[in-house]
Amino acid sequence: MDLGIRGRRAIVCASSKGLGRGVAEKLAEAGVDLTLNARTESTLRATADEIARKYNVKVQIVAEDVTTEVGRQALLKAEPEPDILINNAGGPPPGAWSDWGEAEWTSALNNNMLTPIFLMNAILPGMIARKWGRVVNITSSSVKAPIAQLGLSNSARAGLTGFVAGTARQVARHGVIINNLLPGSHDTDRTKGFLEKAAATQNISVEEARAEAYRKNPAGRYGTSEEFGAAAAFLCSQYSGFIVGQNILLDGGAYNSTMG
Ligand code: NAP
Repeated sequence: MDLGIRGRRAIVCASSKGLGRGVAEKLAEAGVDLTLNARTESTLRATADEIARKYNVKVQIVAEDVTTEVGRQALLKAEPEPDILINNAGGPPPGAWSDWGEAEWTSALNNNMLTPIFLMNAILPGMIARKWGRVVNITSSSVKAPIAQLGLSNSARAGLTGFVAGTARQVARHGVIINNLLPGSHDTDRTKGFLEKAAATQNISVEEARAEAYRKNPAGRYGTSEEFGAAAAFLCSQYSGFIVGQNILLDGGAYNSTMG
């Protein structure tokens, strides 16, 4: 399927690895020129080179921390008029509700709520003026069903979800479409780290911990970055203009409900 976005330009935050990279690959496959971002320049450059070679699109990199004002300004300087914005950053650390003080809360709110809001605030006016734009925020299934040890994520991402719910409905009439994608467990470095911790706690191998986690999911596995990227790319396509302010769960059916 031709997504109708060949030649468009995208900023993909936090995209040298994992879900962000999955999105970057699928946008590139659709012919979108990319501005990729991550903090570690070497892995970011390697990802950019690989994607540019494979899909024959223009790829530039901004090796900065997107959760800082300096990082965001560098991204906007490199790509001042993106047609597509993918908001993403690292997730907050796990812990118990009683573990976190002001510093941890401020950091989680900054990284997973305010950073995507500040980028939208900077980029939406241009999209509105050009009468076309797509924004996908990578949030988490924790917005729909809390994950006990990820209280910082549950909370900060719920704040972002509230902002998007109101804002998406104000900008849609200008051809600017904002949605959230909610990953359940996907095979990335982040979940590999969680499985390693679970294995150590239970005194089992990482492969046993993985098999146990897979068994609990109705799909019998974790999701892939490729599947995630394809869903995001569709939300950035010419055909997503009537999907407004939605929270789309990609979790293999892990959230148990009859509807919604
Ligand atoms: P990942 O595999 O660890 O990849 C994270 C990517 O983001 C890397 O490219 C990393 O590169 C970059 N990054 C991290 N912090 C950054 C920052 N401050 N500024 C710029 N780039 C940054 O993680 P993932 O699994 O793809 O997860 C992506 C997001 O989805 C996270 O917020 C995570 O909590 C959320 N999520 C993931 C899952 C899952 O199952 N994977 C489920 C629910 C939610 P550098 O380290 O070089 O910066």
